[in-house]
Amino acid sequence: MKLSQILFSQGFGTRRACEGLVWNELVRLGTGPDARLLDDPHEDLPTEGLVLTVEGKPWPFHAKALVLLHKPAGYECSQKPKHHPSVMTLLPAPLRNRGVQPIGRLDEDTTGLLLLTEDGTLIHKLTSPKHHVPKVYEVRCKHPVEPAQVQRLLDGVVLDDDPAPVRAAACEAVDTHHLRLTLTEGKYHQVKRMIAAIGNRCEGLHRSAFGHLTIPAALAPGQWCWVDGWQPPATP
Ligand code: URA
Repeated sequence: MKLSQILFSQGFGTRRACEGLVWNELVRLGTGPDARLLDDPHEDLPTEGLVLTVEGKPWPFHAKALVLLHKPAGYECSQKPKHHPSVMTLLPAPLRNRGVQPIGRLDEDTTGLLLLTEDGTLIHKLTSPKHHVPKVYEVRCKHPVEPAQVQRLLDGVVLDDDPAPVRAAACEAVDTHHLRLTLTEGKYHQVKRMIAAIGNRCEGLHRSAFGHLTIPAALAPGQWCWVDGWQPPATP
């Protein structure tokens, strides 16, 4: 693919802006001191395994972007946030330009693992009610957690908008005030409403896993990383 097309496909702006990056000697092939300056926007490059350095920052080519954000509290997942900045502001401009969107939502005060992609089919698939990807939540409860409460979450509780009970796929008390809860659906405020339904109160919520994905230990709140080679679980 031609270099200017590659930059365009990766979200580095208009075709003219992408050519401008090359003419201004801001694009290199590879990373580190041996990276070769690319001075011809029409140069053909193989995209397989391609890593560019753009304005001093490494940029691995991805035909479709899928990224993992360690969401901090105080950010909304909405594209049009009402009271707090959008999680999109934590991503670099090329990813925003590519139109990546969160796969499902976390509340403004929830922290943890949020996936974002530009792949509409993947978003549709992973947010569809038919798709039961397990998501693990670490819950801080206001009142001490009783074994009967854990059992009720496993047996199923009825929420106010649906007579069909919702149950945790797994649930354990981690300590007196902490629960680890695995859900395979994603109803509105589901964890908080389930915890309220058992007579407790959620005072802190963190998503630690989505399918087999967990947050890399080095990824601080507010930071993101690429997700490579992830195969979401198949729809049953
Ligand atoms: N359940 C909730 O109540 N809030 C979240 O952010 C995610 C799951």
